[in-house]
Amino acid sequence: MMLPKETVCPYCHIKFDDQTCVSQEEDIKPKAGDVTMCIKCGELAQFTDDGLIPLPEEIVDALNPRDVQIAAQIRASFIDMTGKYKNDA
Ligand SMILES: [Zn+2]
Repeated sequence: MMLPKETVCPYCHIKFDDQTCVSQEEDIKPKAGDVTMCIKCGELAQFTDDGLIPLPEEIVDALNPRDVQIAAQIRASFIDMTGKYKNDA
């Protein structure tokens, strides 16, 4: 099943039309169950067939801390490079 092309952060309600995969080299599209970090607020959310939901607590414990760290670094460099969302964090 295709995920909605546009998703909305369940925390800060920013709209996304693209994602970057941090755990693999190739650019794969997210599927339901995958975890994402909001580029704007830095909160973690989970993809469902209907969009993003706040990350369930049982998933938080199962996350690879390294993936979360990489996502946080990508987010930090994006904000550094673009100056976007600097005052929203
Ligand atoms: Zn957000």
